[in-house]
Amino acid sequence: MTSANLEGAQKAPEQPQPEGQNDSEGPPDTGDHPKVALAIAAHPDDPDFGCAGTQNLWTKAGWDFYVLIVTDGSKGTEDASLTADKLIPMRQKEQRAASGHQGVKEVFFLKGYVDGELYYSRQLLGDIVRVIRRLKPYAVFTHEPQQLFHAMGFVNHNDHRYTGLHTVDAVYPAARDRWNFPEQIDEEGLETHKVKQLYIWGNDDPNFTTDITDVVDEKIEGLLKHKSQFGQREDFMKFVRERWKGEDGKYTERFRRMQFLR
Ligand SMILES: [Zn+2]
Repeated sequence: MTSANLEGAQKAPEQPQPEGQNDSEGPPDTGDHPKVALAIAAHPDDPDFGCAGTQNLWTKAGWDFYVLIVTDGSKGTEDASLTADKLIPMRQKEQRAASGHQGVKEVFFLKGYVDGELYYSRQLLGDIVRVIRRLKPYAVFTHEPQQLFHAMGFVNHNDHRYTGLHTVDAVYPAARDRWNFPEQIDEEGLETHKVKQLYIWGNDDPNFTTDITDVVDEKIEGLLKHKSQFGQREDFMKFVRERWKGEDGKYTERFRRMQFLR
């Protein structure tokens, strides 16, 4: 992909500012901006692991939270009889139920991106930019894009890395720039949009923590809506309740937060 269509779009650098460490925080004060948040995730169930407790608490505080799933989730089974034509709609239904449990307003699914097969593409960048320009979120949540191996000792899935990377690039600078995907503005009636805050889950150096102790059961109940993934695991609730519990007995979701000061 050439950078020819980015010509003329460069502006003075407005790099995001990392923040220092802090204790648990609630939703930010958005000032005059609408309280809108968007979680962008690779597969059904990813946003529920990543930020369902935060979704739950923010929606109770009056936010409109949306979820965008990038791939079709078609490889999320060991069951040979569950072909893509059956699994895709099943997992979309499960995602709507799971997100609905946290008060999410609407779940969107991109079309044409096969589970496990993401790579960097201008098309995917444009598709994510379009959703950001439509929904105009103040805050965007997504996967850690850079790390190949998590400190916990597992691999950061290919689709997670590419979803995170496209989302970061869409937030800054593509959705902001008039000359990135100008057809969305000229032909589709959208406007450029500046996201104010970006939250990365799965990052090993978090600087923003949500205390989800009060809603951890609701988070797990949401995850259990993904029956195709956890339906066989009767011990799931007990397992994650033990695994997620902090040394102080609290439950948290932790993010690397970047704020765009402009
Ligand atoms: Zn995933």
